[in-house]
Amino acid sequence: MAKKQYAVIGMGRFGSSVAHELSELGFDVLAIDADEHKIQDVSDWVTHAVAADSTDEDALRSLGLRNFDVVVVAIGEDIQASIMTTLILKELGVPEIIVKAQNELHGKVLNKIGADKVVFPERDMGLRVAHHLISPNILEYIELSNDYSIVEMKAPDFTIGKNLLKLDIRARYKCNVLAIKKGSELNITPNATDVIEPDDVLVIVGKTEDLSELELSYA
Ligand code: ADP
Repeated sequence: MAKKQYAVIGMGRFGSSVAHELSELGFDVLAIDADEHKIQDVSDWVTHAVAADSTDEDALRSLGLRNFDVVVVAIGEDIQASIMTTLILKELGVPEIIVKAQNELHGKVLNKIGADKVVFPERDMGLRVAHHLISPNILEYIELSNDYSIVEMKAPDFTIGKNLLKLDIRARYKCNVLAIKKGSELNITPNATDVIEPDDVLVIVGKTEDLSELELSYA
């Protein structure tokens, strides 16, 4: 299978981090930014780097963006430019458009005009930090929808030596243990009789409000 071709528009902190990681993972990346200096900064480590204004339809067309599998729009502050760029990419027929949103309203507009995925990096990182603060056991926090989330938490002391049946997380907190991590091993089909050991990590899914209760009780 041919390797996917990626383009990232906007070489701010978020865009350059996405472009850098894709390059590190061995993918071809076209980096675009209106600012020549930003392009010079990234040109050493991306496959191609081009200075262009992404609100210029002709410029995007001549860069052949319709031939890319995925285009990431990482324009931060200029919401108008972000929306116009997304619209142009949509009209060019880019198969997958991922856009960074500044706020909920921006996100709604992007969804309406056909962005395939809208990401809120600052908001999501803020959520993670907050959850880690209220309970240092929380290693990872992922919002699945408005109502449901997944948390990854260090097995707290009182769970050690007990099995899932005894802990009864499903009945007590209305949450499900999806997986138990033991070092690099991931058990994705935990049984009721599986005993939690020190340094285990539990991956739990549930309603966000129920998970919060669980997090707080573990804190
Ligand atoms: P972050 O918060 O991720 O650092 P910024 O808003 O600081 O994001 O950076 C966004 C980048 O997008 C900047 O480098 C800016 O030059 C670039 N940018 C803004 N508008 C356009 C545009 N119309 N075309 C191309 N690049 C743009």
